[in-house]
Amino acid sequence: MKESILTIPVNEVFEPKRGCPICAMRNSVEEHMCEYIMGAAMMEPDVRIETNALGFCHTHYNDLLRQSNRLSLALMLDTHLAELRRELFEKKSALFSKKDNAKKYAEIGQTCFVCSYVNRGVEHMLETVFTMFAKDEGFRGLYSEQEYICIPHYRQLMISAQNVLKKAELKAFEEATDALVERYIKSLNDDVHTFCSSYDYRNKGMLHGEGMEHVRASIERAIEFLTSRKPDAK
Ligand SMILES: [Zn+2]
Ligand SMILES: [Zn+2]
Repeated sequence: MKESILTIPVNEVFEPKRGCPICAMRNSVEEHMCEYIMGAAMMEPDVRIETNALGFCHTHYNDLLRQSNRLSLALMLDTHLAELRRELFEKKSALFSKKDNAKKYAEIGQTCFVCSYVNRGVEHMLETVFTMFAKDEGFRGLYSEQEYICIPHYRQLMISAQNVLKKAELKAFEEATDALVERYIKSLNDDVHTFCSSYDYRNKGMLHGEGMEHVRASIERAIEFLTSRKPDAK
């Protein structure tokens, strides 16, 4: 598989200054990946070996289903199910045991072909983010102007940065990242709190103003901040 589909220019992700830039990075790699595997790649033997073994997670089955190409998905499911059948019920090797099967069952829906490549792509791009943060003053400014970093990516950034950045750079990076998260969680908490108060009869109609959209959307925004995914329910 071409590694180029796993990378997009880092600046492009940070320029809009809307939402979590690492989510935007992940979404973009994910989108490319889903289009790629539902197209010609689906018939590539090395891709099929991996999709047969790993399957997909719930999030990515949904993404694949949304692509309106049921035949591609059905072909992948056909051979994935056949492989699972063989492994779980037909292979009578010396290693066959209930314990091994229990492990296999636990992995279904957990291992995911898209996740494994997307994680690799994002990790790779994070290395570029760290290098740019360390060397490029302009990028440091751009980084600090992001709307926020979501909680799962906050964790990922803080862990990965420790392995890449030198002491002084690491301190600057941690401070900039902490500031982004702290500022956003405070304003988000205020917005959710205001949303709750709007149910008090004394505040009737307070959410109707045009400037209150951020409060009206605060529940969805909180879910996205906490999980890195927009909620499906409307
Ligand atoms: Zn994120
Ligand atoms: Zn997945």
